[in-house]
This record gives sequence, C-alpha cells and structure tokens, in this order.
Amino acid sequence: TDTSHIRNFSIVAHIDHGKSTISDRILELTHTVEERDMRSQLLDTMDIEQERGITIKSNAVRVMYDADDGETYQFNLIDTPGHVDFTYEVSRSLAACEGAVLVVDATQGVEAQTVSNANLAMNANLEIVPAINKIDLPSAHPDEVREEIEEELAIPAEDAVCVSGKTGEGIHDLLESIVFLVPPPEGDARAPLKALILDSYFDEYRGVVAMVRVFDGSIKKGDRLHMMQGDEDFLVDAVAVKRPAEVPVRELAVGEVGVVVTGLKDPAAVRVGDTLTYADRPCAEALPGYREAKPMVYTGIFPIDNKEYENLRDALEKLRVNDPSLVWDPETSVALGFGFRVGFLGLLHMEVVKERLEREFGLDLIATSPSVDYHVYLTDGDMVDIRSPQDLPDPSSIDHIEEPYLKAKVIVPPEFTGAVMQLAVEHRGEMADMVYLSDKSVEMHFEIPLAELILDFFDQLKSRTKGYASLDYEFDEYRPSDLVKLDILLSGDDVDALSFIVHKDKAYPLARGLCDKLKEMIPRQQFEVPIQGAIGSKIIARSTVKAVRKDVLAKCYGGDITRKRKLLEKQKEGKKRMKSIGRVEVPQEAFLAVLKVD
Ligand code: GDP
Ligand code: MG
Repeated sequence: TDTSHIRNFSIVAHIDHGKSTISDRILELTHTVEERDMRSQLLDTMDIEQERGITIKSNAVRVMYDADDGETYQFNLIDTPGHVDFTYEVSRSLAACEGAVLVVDATQGVEAQTVSNANLAMNANLEIVPAINKIDLPSAHPDEVREEIEEELAIPAEDAVCVSGKTGEGIHDLLESIVFLVPPPEGDARAPLKALILDSYFDEYRGVVAMVRVFDGSIKKGDRLHMMQGDEDFLVDAVAVKRPAEVPVRELAVGEVGVVVTGLKDPAAVRVGDTLTYADRPCAEALPGYREAKPMVYTGIFPIDNKEYENLRDALEKLRVNDPSLVWDPETSVALGFGFRVGFLGLLHMEVVKERLEREFGLDLIATSPSVDYHVYLTDGDMVDIRSPQDLPDPSSIDHIEEPYLKAKVIVPPEFTGAVMQLAVEHRGEMADMVYLSDKSVEMHFEIPLAELILDFFDQLKSRTKGYASLDYEFDEYRPSDLVKLDILLSGDDVDALSFIVHKDKAYPLARGLCDKLKEMIPRQQFEVPIQGAIGSKIIARSTVKAVRKDVLAKCYGGDITRKRKLLEKQKEGKKRMKSIGRVEVPQEAFLAVLKVD
C-alpha cells in the first residue's frame, strides 16, 4: 500500500492561541462536518472542555482534503491541549505524527508554551509548519511575530502562513503547506503489525477503545492482537476512524491513525504507550512508548459518603485508561474516612480529575489541600518519601527535609519584570537570569519551590502583569528547606486532614487563618472547644468555640409541633454528616470550608 497521500500532524500552541478554532475551520473546509452540525471547538468533546473553553484531551480526527494538485489527501489531525499540566498529553500526540502545525497568536507572539511545544516537536523530529493566527484582529502584528518565531525558536518562518481561525482566511494555504511540508508516513505494510496506543478510554458497552497509530502492518476486525507490555491478547471487535463521529472502516492501514475496539472489560489491561502486534506473528521489538509522567502534586480524595469508597476506586481505574498519568494509594483519615492519595501533573489536572470523577461517575468528593513529594532524611541516615503530611515521622527522628524545586520560565513585556521579580521573591523564588527576546518581551528564569507554585502563584502572576505573562516550568532538583509540620488540634486532639507541611515563615499566618475559619464553622458544643495551631508541642495560634446548652427545642416555646419536628429532622440530618474528632463533633462542611482557604 501507498502512504504518499497520508499526512499525520498535531496542532500545538500556547493556550488560547487558537488551535481548536483552527481545527474547526479545517473540519469545515474539508466538509468533514456539515454546516448545521458545526459548533465551536468541536473537538473539545468533554463538557468541562466546552465550559472552560480549554482543551484537556488530545483528539484525533480524520479529514479528506482535495488539494490544488488535484489529489485527495488523508489528514489525521490531532488537536492538543496548551496548558503546562498537559504537556505530557502533547508529547504523546507528537509520537503519532510526522508534522506539527505550530500556531502563534499574532497579537501575543511567542509565549512560554510556544517555546516548550516547539521544543517537543523538534525533539520528536517533526516537520514544523508555523501558522500566525488571529490576523483579523486590529492589534495583530504578524511581521514582528514572524521575527520572534525565527529568533526565539530558530524556526524558519518566511513561509509561515498567516491565518484567521475566526474568518477562515489563510486556512486553505495552511492545508496546502501541510501537503507540501509534512512528509508522508513510512512503514512496511507486509511486516508484522506495530501500532502505538496513543490514547484510550473505557466504554461500558464495548470495553476499552484504543486510539492507535499503525507504524507497520495493518489492523482488521477479527485480527487476534497482542499487547506487548500488558502481555494480553484480544480479538479486534471493530476498527473505525473519527470524523469526528466514529465511522467504521475495513482496515487501519500502514501509516494511518484510528480506533480499535478491544472488547476488553478490564480497564487496567490497556496501557497508553503500549505496542500492539499480531498474536501469531509478533514484531521483533516494541515501540519506545512513552516516558512515564511524574506526578507533581498530591492530594487526598475522599468520598463524602464513605459507602462510595469502592465506587471511587472503580472510577479512578476507569479514568486511568484515559489518563495514564494518574496514580494513587489508599489513605485513611479519622476526619474524612477512607479515600485515596492521588498524584497529579499540576493543579489544573487535579481540578479536572476531581470534576470528571464527580460528573462522569456521579461521586461527591472532598479533596484535602494539595501537597508535594518531600524527601525526609532521618537521623539514622534513611530517606523516606512523604506525600501526605500525616505520614511525616516524629520530628525528633528527622534530620532534615528536602523539597522539589523547579526551573521556571516567565515570558513577559519588559515593563512587568519588576512585578514578576517581587512575586517570585514572595514565593521563595530565586532569579537565575533574564534574557531580552526582543524589545517587547523578556524571558526570566527562576528557581522556585514547587510547593509555592501550587499555591496561588499563577493567578497572581496573571493579575500582576495584566495577563501578559506566560509561565512554563520543569522539575529541577530536591533541595533542603526549613520546613515544619503544622497541626491543628481540637480540644487537644490532632485533626489528621488538617496537617500541613509548610515553610517555617508561612506557618504562623496559615495557623491563624485556619483557627479563625474553624471557629466560624464548628457549632457550639456542650463544652468549650479550644482550637489550636501547633508545630510539635509549640502552640502558635489559638481560638475558642464557646460552650452552649444544646437544647434546640427550647427555642420554640409552645405549640407548633410541625416546626419542632422539622427542627429535629434537621438536627438528625446534620448528625449523619458529623465527624468526631476526640469528643468534638465537627460537621463535614467545616472541613470542606477550611480546605478551600489557602
Ligand atoms: P486553543 O486554546 O489554542 O485551542 O484556542 P481556542 O481555539 O480555544 O481559541 C481561544 C480564543 O481565541 C477563543 O475565544 C477563540 O474564539 C479565539 N480565536 C481563535 N482564533 C481566532 C482568530 O483567528 N481571530 C480571533 N479574533 N479570535 C480567535
Ligand atoms: Mg484548544
């Protein structure tokens, strides 16, 4: 078979530069989607994506393009997410392609994820097709952006296509450039099957459905396939392509991208990054697969109703089919019951997973405040990995604690460099250096603790630079820091869900804030309840909930029986949601409220 008419490419860019909108125009121009079915960001299929206006999952779609040379080309196009948390998702998509369309907003120019995505594409040896988008806007300055692309990214940009995802201008030229610049896939149709699983999801009726890129051989319904890493066989139930609705095809030929219905009901059986081959005629060696994603942020996730614990486990397993970066361990808490310590690639990833668990699986969840992975060195010389403040050993056995540091990069107009520097210092960051990219943009490099970045750094950065700054970061190394464990005590009993590992200087304000908030949230009890913030045996903050006689009926003097009954019902309802910390009854809402403050 001939692959000369196939073009596999991803669309990559900084967030909001217009990838999904350009994908929409491509779907329209190639008549893949009827006009009446068109809506914006069509490839953002999840509710969360549509609501937040961001792409979270890569989405592969096949379109047929009638080019100016009279030939019809098969484009397998992958729209990708732009947020730094989902870089891993982008690199997975790139592994299935020969080319990348690098979109740069003509009003914003090169930003932090423009640089990181361009680097990912170059490292994957892809042909890069630069596209300057939003040229319909009056503030567009495409010529300067062209220079930025050449100077900052070292990508020749004299041929960069100027487009508007909004009006459709230039999209035709972009498609022609893709035909010319992106090479067709290479591969041997007669060799044993070698196909990469680039994505998958769990379908209640059809089992695991995998999105694959065929490198050698081909896949048909009824083929018996073998997963090389997962070491499991299955019969192919169906093959299809996404246009973007699923359309069955006779086969997925060499070089193509499409969907394989595995029929496998065990969500853990299929791993993204695994290689598919023929069960009876395997290929010699697996594809390199993907580097494992390393979680950056950990949080405890607990079902509000503890009967949902098994359902939560089941939901996490099903979600992992679709999101291989998810990892978790069981965790128990006196305050919150049974749950899991879950690792995430970043805060947005954490929010998205929690929201998907709640929506797609109908769960009601509490998340404890996020924490990073600390290296705790003990006096006997051992090192333990601590992902939950609860697990921190006795302070007397700790020699020192190290925390993860990042190399962070901020790209910003020169007038904001002072504001960014100050923000970094407030977050224990150290400035490494600063490079002028042009007279309009400066690239600043910092070393900063990850724990600081997951607080409110990003929101602050955006607000203090009027939205102009963009941020990218990567893990650098572990460094010793002056960290302490802050405990919250109710009537002298330690509340496990409210322990934090914090820098010594930040422990006091945090303790103060927590004590005040809890005082508001904990109802008066028969006795006085002292609330204390403590580092070891040292109390650093305190507040008190006064005692009260807890006879609610005393309030309604006389007759109204229905009102009395209602009150009793309400009290009973409240009781169910109460957690006992020692002898103090705390409504679950108190934990929810407190865990929301930062
Ligand atoms: P993505 O994050 O890269 O996928 O960006 P989106 O496609 O979601 O677009 C981000 C925002 O920019 C949306 O509000 C789009 O409507 C808008 N947008 C995208 N392309 C253009 C364009 O060419 N011109 C104008 N004026 N707005 C655009
Ligand atoms: Mg998008």
